[in-house]
Amino acid sequence: MADNVETGLFGEFGGSYLPEDLQKVLSDLAEQFEKYRDDPEFEEDLSYYLKEYVGRENPLTFAKNLTKKVGGAKIYLKREDLNHTGAHKINNVIGQILLAKRMGITRVIAETGAGQHGVATATACAMFEMDCTIYMGKTDTKRQELNVFRMELLGAKVVPVEKGQGRLKDAVDEALSDLVENYENTFYLLGSAVGPHPFPTMVKHFQSVVSKESKRQIMEKENKLPTAVVACVGGGSNAIGAFSHYIDEAEVRLIGVEPAEAATITKGVPAVIHGFKCLTLLDENGEPQPTNPIAAGLDYPGVGPEHSHLSTTGRAEYVTVTGEESLEAFQELSKVEGITPALESSHAIAHAIKLAQSLSKDDVIIVNLSGRGDKDIDQVYEMLKK
Ligand SMILES: *Cc1c(COP(=O)(O)O)cnc(C)c1O
Repeated sequence: MADNVETGLFGEFGGSYLPEDLQKVLSDLAEQFEKYRDDPEFEEDLSYYLKEYVGRENPLTFAKNLTKKVGGAKIYLKREDLNHTGAHKINNVIGQILLAKRMGITRVIAETGAGQHGVATATACAMFEMDCTIYMGKTDTKRQELNVFRMELLGAKVVPVEKGQGRLKDAVDEALSDLVENYENTFYLLGSAVGPHPFPTMVKHFQSVVSKESKRQIMEKENKLPTAVVACVGGGSNAIGAFSHYIDEAEVRLIGVEPAEAATITKGVPAVIHGFKCLTLLDENGEPQPTNPIAAGLDYPGVGPEHSHLSTTGRAEYVTVTGEESLEAFQELSKVEGITPALESSHAIAHAIKLAQSLSKDDVIIVNLSGRGDKDIDQVYEMLKK
């Protein structure tokens, strides 16, 4: 092991615990990212695609009817659901693909569990004319047949991984061994604010556009900072993007919402998984515990190292919401605002409703609506029918 635990640290969390060959590849990546992240031409390129392809900036919508019905704080929705492909994931994908292009790389690989990151990656690879391979656990490919078809339609090669339990973790392992073998022409495009350095830092950088926009928008609309920013937490990328420009504003409460069925931060312990240290749900044998929340995008036994740190220091609060509560919020927002949230985002909505009730009319809450619910309609239909 060539541990590189001194870089990419957030308190005791993060770092890079990897075999030597992989460590070298990621150290090179970290160097390239540092070289381009604030380069004016790179930034200009990124803004161009975020505007013309993703459809940014997206609105910060005042949820007038929900606010009135709930009573209490004003609720605003940051509309990541309006992005091309229907969620925040594309922000990070575009950023990393532009970096890959700068590095002269033409082959992209990625892991996917539920298929959302795979679809976002395949989408951008089609547009940027990149060769695209998506690793997906065999069990997941069966559960998400339509997403497999969607990725193939976009020109990606989907590789079902039979090893282990045929789940996300096994797909990550396969993608990493592909990277070690083919690093000279291959870029591993990781989908959340997790993994060894530099991924958590890089993903945060590309997702921070969310709070960069919302801060300006809320100042325009309310002429003050929000009382609280609320976001759901799976690996933590939409939440860290929604928080980042407020972290130094001590009076703004930052609230991450976890599914009660995968409460990594709320119930986890520090451990190293997938090459980095974070709060993790472990079973009695010390192995990462399989989780099963109703929102597939929140199904991960670990969480981003920066969230682990923000929780430990108390700068951010983390709460849980049950599948049942989020299913109710899914229906409520649809009914009163005509906006159907992703089941993941419904967790944040559910908590925002509770929070708004406990605050006054002078308070303002921003909820990050990380994605739209179209992808979840069949599943919700099945659940409600029963
Ligand atoms: C993937 C996904 C999430 C969870 O991932 P994070 O990295 O925690 O943001 C949340 N919402 C939607 C809509 C997603 O697709």
